[in-house]
Amino acid sequence: MLYDAIIVGGGAVGLATALQLQKLDTKLNVLVLEKEAVVANHQTGNNSNVIHSGVYYKPGSLKARNCIQGYNMLIDFCRKYEVPFSLCGKIIVATEEKEIPVLKTIQDRGQQNGLQNLRMLKAEELREYEPHVAGIAGIHVPQTGIVDYRVVAEKYAEVFQQQGGELRLGEKVIDVQLSSEKVVVVTQKSSYTGKLLVNCAGLYSDKIAGLTMKNVDFRIIPFRGEYFKLKKEKEYLVKTLIYPVPDPNFPFLGVHFTTMVGGGVECGPNAVLAFKREGYKKTDINISELTETLSWPGFRKVVSKYWRTGIGEMYRSYSKPAFTRALQKLLPEIQEGDLIEGGAGVRAQACDRKGGLLDDFLILEDKLVINVCNAPSPAATSSLSIGATVAELAKKRL
Ligand SMILES: Cc1cc2nc3c(=O)[nH]c(=O)nc-3n(C[C@H](O)[C@H](O)[C@H](O)COP(=O)(O)OP(=O)(O)OC[C@H]3O[C@@H](n4cnc5c(N)ncnc54)[C@H](O)[C@@H]3O)c2cc1C
Repeated sequence: MLYDAIIVGGGAVGLATALQLQKLDTKLNVLVLEKEAVVANHQTGNNSNVIHSGVYYKPGSLKARNCIQGYNMLIDFCRKYEVPFSLCGKIIVATEEKEIPVLKTIQDRGQQNGLQNLRMLKAEELREYEPHVAGIAGIHVPQTGIVDYRVVAEKYAEVFQQQGGELRLGEKVIDVQLSSEKVVVVTQKSSYTGKLLVNCAGLYSDKIAGLTMKNVDFRIIPFRGEYFKLKKEKEYLVKTLIYPVPDPNFPFLGVHFTTMVGGGVECGPNAVLAFKREGYKKTDINISELTETLSWPGFRKVVSKYWRTGIGEMYRSYSKPAFTRALQKLLPEIQEGDLIEGGAGVRAQACDRKGGLLDDFLILEDKLVINVCNAPSPAATSSLSIGATVAELAKKRL
C-alpha cells in the first residue's frame, strides 16, 4: 500500500491537515498515525478551550492571519457538525497604570486584524460585563468564544474517516526512512510507505523533524500550565472570560478565568518548566528529556534572561496562596478555599539555539517531508487554517 500522505500526530493540527487534504482532492489516500489510544490526548485535549479572536497578534503575521481565518472556519465546522460552542466574549483587564498603553496597542492590533466593536472600558464599565472584577481599564472583545477542543478533534477524526481517511491509533513513530521517491514511516508495530510525510507531532515535532532533516536547529521546551477550578458555589463570580493584559515578552503568561462550554470555571494556567514532555504532574520526570532541555544552549540563554519570571511561576505552582493572590488581582473576592485543583496542559514551545522563543508558526520543508515545527496557541483555534496551508504545500508535491 502506498499512501499519498502520512501524517504523524492526531491532535487538532494533524487531523485538520488530514481533512483539508481530503478537501483539496477527495481521491487522496491519507493516513494519520497517532501514538495514543485516543486522539487529542495532549495539547489539543488539555488547553484552555478558548476560541481566540486574533485581537493580540501582530497584523500580517502567520499567527494573525491563521487565527482569523481559522476562527471563521472553526465556527462554520462547529455549526455544520453540531459541536457545542459559545461566542460569549471576553474582557482584558488592566490592573496597573503601566498596562494602559498595552491595551491601546491591543485595540489597534485588533482593529487592524479586522475585529469590529472592540470597546475600550473605564473601571466602572468593566463591571457591566463582570460585576466582581477589579481593574482600572479594559477592552471588551465580543468575538471570543469557548468550545471543547477534544470534542472538536474527535469530530475532525470522525469526518476524516467517514470520507475514507485512515486513522491508526496506538502507533508511535520511531523511525523515518527517506529514499528519492518515497518515505517509509516505522512505528513500534509496523511500517507504512507514503509519497509524503507531514509531521504534526506537537511536543515531539523536533524529534520527528530530526528523523527527516539534518540541522534541525530548535528544540521543543515543554512548559506545563496548571489550572484550578472554581468551587460550584463561587462560579457566579465569573460570567464569561476575564484576562489580564499580556506581557509582550511572554504573551502566554498570566492566569485568567474561563467559563467552560460544558459548565464550570477554570482559573489559570501558569507556565512552569515540565521535567518531562508529557509531564502533567509536578512529580513527572524523564531524566533523558530533562537533560536534553537543560543542555540546549537556547534554553540556558532563556534562563539567564528570564530567571526571575521563571522563579515567580514556579513559586505560584508550589504555593496555592501565591496562585490565589495572582487571581485576586482580577477578582479580589476569590479566596484560597474557593479553588479546587484542576488539570494541566503542556505547551510545546520551540526554542532556537540563541534563546529565541519562537512565537509564530514554523514549517520546515524538504522534498518528501513537511514538518510543522511550532504550532503554539492559538493553534487549536487556527487548526483548520494551518491545516489548509499545510495541505496546499502537500498538494504541490503530489
Ligand atoms: C495549557 C495550554 C492552553 C492553551 N490554550 C489554548 C486555547 O485556549 N486556544 C487555542 O486555540 N490554543 C490553545 N493552546 C494551544 C493549542 O492547544 C495547541 O497549539 C494545539 O493544540 C496544537 O495542536 P497539535 O496538533 O500541534 O499538537 P497536539 O495536540 O499536542 O498533538 C500532537 C499529537 O502528536 C502525537 N505524537 C507525538 N509524537 C508522536 C509519535 N512519535 N508518533 C505518533 N504520534 C505522535 C501526540 O500523541 C499528539 O496527539 C493551549 C495550549 C496549552 C498547552
